Amino acid sequence: MALKFFGCHANLLSTRKLVKVNNSIEKVRDLVTTTNLPSIATFPQNSLQKGNWVKLICGASFEDVADIRNLSLVYTLAGVDCIDCAADAAVVNAVNEGIDAATAIFPIRRPWVMISVNDDQDLHFRKAEFHPDDCPIDCSRPCEIICPANAISNQGVTTERCYGCGRCFPVCPYDKIKAISYVRDAAATSKLLERDNVDALEIHTNGRQTSSFKELWNGLGDSVSHLSLVAVSLPCVGDSTVSMMNKLYSILENNLCCLNLWQLDGRPMSGDIGRGATRESIAFAQRLAFTKEKPPGFLQLAGGTNAHTVDGLRKLNLFQMPPFENSTASNSNALIGGIAYGGYARKIVGRVLSGMQSEGGEIESDPDHLLMAVIQAMTLVGGVKSYNITCS
Ligand code: SF4
Ligand code: SF4
Repeated sequence: MALKFFGCHANLLSTRKLVKVNNSIEKVRDLVTTTNLPSIATFPQNSLQKGNWVKLICGASFEDVADIRNLSLVYTLAGVDCIDCAADAAVVNAVNEGIDAATAIFPIRRPWVMISVNDDQDLHFRKAEFHPDDCPIDCSRPCEIICPANAISNQGVTTERCYGCGRCFPVCPYDKIKAISYVRDAAATSKLLERDNVDALEIHTNGRQTSSFKELWNGLGDSVSHLSLVAVSLPCVGDSTVSMMNKLYSILENNLCCLNLWQLDGRPMSGDIGRGATRESIAFAQRLAFTKEKPPGFLQLAGGTNAHTVDGLRKLNLFQMPPFENSTASNSNALIGGIAYGGYARKIVGRVLSGMQSEGGEIESDPDHLLMAVIQAMTLVGGVKSYNITCS
């Protein structure tokens, strides 16, 4: 009898839990509906034209598939246009799973899935490494404290969580941490592109030479033929930036069958550090927005972007501004196509993810946290897409 009662009690508890879960998922649906997102989340190419394109950067080297899936789910419900991730099959699957889970909750349009590769050594394509046995036992472990990805523990660096930001290198008093750099292979990238779950490609290049860019682009061959967008991410290299962009475009255009975009990488992997981190990407955008000699392609900010980026652009009359009347531009696209958010976007949602009952679990099974995470994501995305969050 006692056992029977316990069984009934357990059923009652699980029924209550199910009702609570359903109610909370309903709140997420209400949030997306009352924010009027379905009409705001237009096709990604239209967002680029209007200047309200938003890309989530999961990180070219970040490979924690559980977090990537949840981030993709949350930011899809917030209306991002593109999700940029590591060029790795498991990571691409995780992004697509997150998008599928989001569209099962609410039938919002799918963002493009982009993979990021490099043509040469690049800060975004490296991992930190050290052997914990080499560390003095009385070390105060500043590396662990400073790591924004919670990638460092007593066991050393959790490789899949390290995204190469480099903040741990200078703080180690014993110089124990090494950077392991890598270059994505063109043949492996082609295979990934030939699957049907990648829409866009981003090539990181250092802006100082074109030979490795040419080798990579030519090596990709026909695998780029079905893409919707090819992006080139480069830093500002002073007065030679525009001529370098033109050289890169002359290589690209031979085999370019889709839209193209220039990712203006201001201060790489720094958006979570603070307000000032976004200055370099805004200055980069200002330098290029009115330059007539630049090659075709949308402009998009990255590197240090955060909650202050839109205000910075607005002050310079660069936010969602059409070309001026005396411009020679042949179309009416906004001067700046949009903004990509990386470290800052991951930080504001990561805070919620780390509070989940089962850390690393699927966020929709903890819908109270899902609701909180979507509100955080909407706060950032809504700043670019000009929507207000309406909670019922
Ligand atoms: S601080 Fe940056 S480079 Fe170092 S382990 Fe963490 S994510 Fe990797
Ligand atoms: S700061 Fe350097 S020595 Fe100390 S735990 Fe980290 S890697 Fe080891």
